[in-house]
Amino acid sequence: MSPANLAPEALAELRSLARNAARSTGFELDSIDVEGDRVLLSLRKGTVSVAAWLRASTGEACFARAGAWSVGYRGDLPPGADELLRALASALEHHPAPRPDCSADVALVYGTDQLEIRVTLACNEHCVFCNSWFGASNLATDLPSAVLLASQARTRGARKLVISGGEPLLVRWLPELAREARRMGFSHICLQTNAVLLSRRGRQAQPAPITSQTHRTPGASEATQSVSSHPFQGSSSPTPWDLLRATAPDEVLVSAHGSTAKVLASVTRRPKLATDHLDGMKRLLASDFQVVVNFVVCRQNLADLPRFVRMLARQPRRPSLLALSFVAPMGLAWDNRHDTIPRYAEAAPAVLSALRLSRSLGIPGVLSEYCAIPTCVLPDLREFADPADELRPIHVPPDKTLLPRCEPCPWKPRCSGVFRRYLEMYGDEIQLLDTPCP
Ligand code: SF4
Repeated sequence: MSPANLAPEALAELRSLARNAARSTGFELDSIDVEGDRVLLSLRKGTVSVAAWLRASTGEACFARAGAWSVGYRGDLPPGADELLRALASALEHHPAPRPDCSADVALVYGTDQLEIRVTLACNEHCVFCNSWFGASNLATDLPSAVLLASQARTRGARKLVISGGEPLLVRWLPELAREARRMGFSHICLQTNAVLLSRRGRQAQPAPITSQTHRTPGASEATQSVSSHPFQGSSSPTPWDLLRATAPDEVLVSAHGSTAKVLASVTRRPKLATDHLDGMKRLLASDFQVVVNFVVCRQNLADLPRFVRMLARQPRRPSLLALSFVAPMGLAWDNRHDTIPRYAEAAPAVLSALRLSRSLGIPGVLSEYCAIPTCVLPDLREFADPADELRPIHVPPDKTLLPRCEPCPWKPRCSGVFRRYLEMYGDEIQLLDTPCP
C-alpha cells in the first residue's frame, strides 16, 4: 500500500497528463504524490490553489468518473476549478489504470511462502473496507503478467497461490493460470470470491464488464455517484461455475460479511445483490469444494456475528474453517474509518464469543493473524490464534508496529503488532493497556 508500489513510469505518465490538462485551463501542476490509494495533485492558478486526487474507480464518492478513474478534490473548490477537474477527467477517460511496481518480492505475502495475485480490480460489490486499488503491489490483470509473477515467486520459494481480486470470477483465464501454477510446482491454490456469481441468478450468466462513466453532482464536494452494472447480463459460456470447476482450486475462500440482506447491503453496498451473495455462499458450501468462510469484522456487522455463525451451522455442509478478520485500516476502510473501524476493545468480546460459539457448533474458527485484534486486548483470544509454524512465521509488516509494552510480552513471537494507522486513530486505547502484557 505504500506510494513506492506505484511504478515510477506510471507516476511520470500521470504527471505529464495532469500537467497538460492543467495548462489547458490555465493552471500549473505544482506537485504530484501518492498517498495510500490516491494520487494527489497540487495545482495553482495565480493565488488560487486546488488539491485534487485521482484513484482507480470503485464507485466511491467523487467529482467525476472517467474510464478506469475517479477524480475528486479536498477542501473547497474555488471558482473556475470545476473546469480544471473536468479537464483532468477528460484526459484520463482513455488512460488505463497504471500498472503498479509489481514484482514477486512485493507480491509475496510478507514473510511467508504465499503468493497472492490480484487478477482484477473489477468487482460486483463495493465493500466499505475494500483495499483493492491500482497501486496494489500484487496486481496482474493479464495471464502473461500473472504467470510471470507466479514463476518469479516460485523461484523465491512460494508454494501457495492465492487468487484474489476484485472478484476473480470475472476473469476468464483463471483455469490457465491455475494450470501453469501447478506445472511450476505450486502445491496449494486458493481462490477468493464473494460468491455472488455462484448464486442461482449468476450461475447461467456471463458477467458483464463493470461499466464506468463521467458524471458529477453539482454543489457537492464529494458526491456519491454509484456506478452500477448488473453482472448477470448476457448469457454466453463459460458460466462462473464452469470457470470455478476448470480452475479446480484446492480451497475456495468466500468473503461473507453478514447473515441477512440488510447487514450485507450495509457492508457490500450493493443491496440488489445481497440475496445473491447469500445464495451463492450457500451453493458453494453445498458443493464439493473445500470452503473457508472469511468474515471481516467491522462496525456494520459486529452485532450480526452470532447470527452469522448460527446460519453457517445450519447449512447441510459446513465450512472447513471460519476465519474472522478485523477490518484493516487501509483502502476504503480508512476513507470510511469513523463509520467502519470499531475499537479493539469494542470488537474483541464479540469476536471471542463468536469463535466460541462456532467451535461449540462444530465449525473450527480462527482469528486471522495479519488482520487481527492484538490479543493483549483480550488474552482469551489466543486459543483461536491462526496457527504459526516454520512455513508461516510471524513477522511485523511495515504497516504495523510493536509497542514498548510488547518487549516483555509472552505472545510477542506470535504477534504481528498493531496497525500504525489504528494507533493514529485510537492510540489512547492502547495506552490504557499500559500494564504488563498478560
Ligand atoms: S506483542 Fe504487543 S501487541 Fe502483541 S499481544 Fe503482546 S503486547 Fe499486544
